[in-house]
Amino acid sequence: MPEMIGIFGGTFDPVHFGHLRPAVEVREALQLDCLRLVPCGVPAHRAPPLASPEQRLAMLRAAVQGVRGLRVDSREIARRGPCYSVETLESLREAHPHAALVLVIGMDAFATLDSWHRWRELPGLAHLVVAHRPGWRDEGLFRHRHLGPLLRDACCEDVAALRETRAGRIFFQPVTQLDISSTRIRALLAAGKDVSFLLPARVIEVIQQQRIYT
Ligand code: ATP
Repeated sequence: MPEMIGIFGGTFDPVHFGHLRPAVEVREALQLDCLRLVPCGVPAHRAPPLASPEQRLAMLRAAVQGVRGLRVDSREIARRGPCYSVETLESLREAHPHAALVLVIGMDAFATLDSWHRWRELPGLAHLVVAHRPGWRDEGLFRHRHLGPLLRDACCEDVAALRETRAGRIFFQPVTQLDISSTRIRALLAAGKDVSFLLPARVIEVIQQQRIYT
């Protein structure tokens, strides 16, 4: 079977169970050889993160420690300037020319895909797997000016179809809905509130030791 590598990008400021549980479920559902969590350095589409790149890496590493099939990929952190998924995929494609690549994104991120840098090139580099996120529905997407034609062309119903090519298909993966966001966690921490059970205890330890959000 050809190797299949998943990439799940984000700011991870901080990483939480809303990222981690879908990551585990997508990896298992797609039988990915591994799913790489890729924290961005300077995000292209949003305000800079509160935690430094090194702190976000430390939190991610603590989160995936001992978890089968999940690993942290620091290639975007190492890059200077804004991070673009298309460039991350290009560098992975170069390193893994024969593997199927799968870009995993939340529904909220997919809904704005046509604003991403060189977005039309993404399907040529990887499959897109869209994980459901609370509050986001997919019906309107099929009528979207840019995403509609893309979906009609590339959307597949059967996960097995992703193994047939190295890139180019879109698959919607239902995942456990956890209404957790980094924004909310940062707000709770800033207010001195308890964030237990929203993110792994080991990540909370890193936050406390390094006084990241206080
Ligand atoms: P913030 O609140 O700072 O905007 P966030 O919680 O949305 O952060 P990001 O690091 O920006 O987290 O998200 C990275 C990826 O994870 C995106 O594709 C996003 O859609 C997805 N994601 C984040 N939280 C969830 C969640 N609770 N359920 C499903 N997907 C999620």
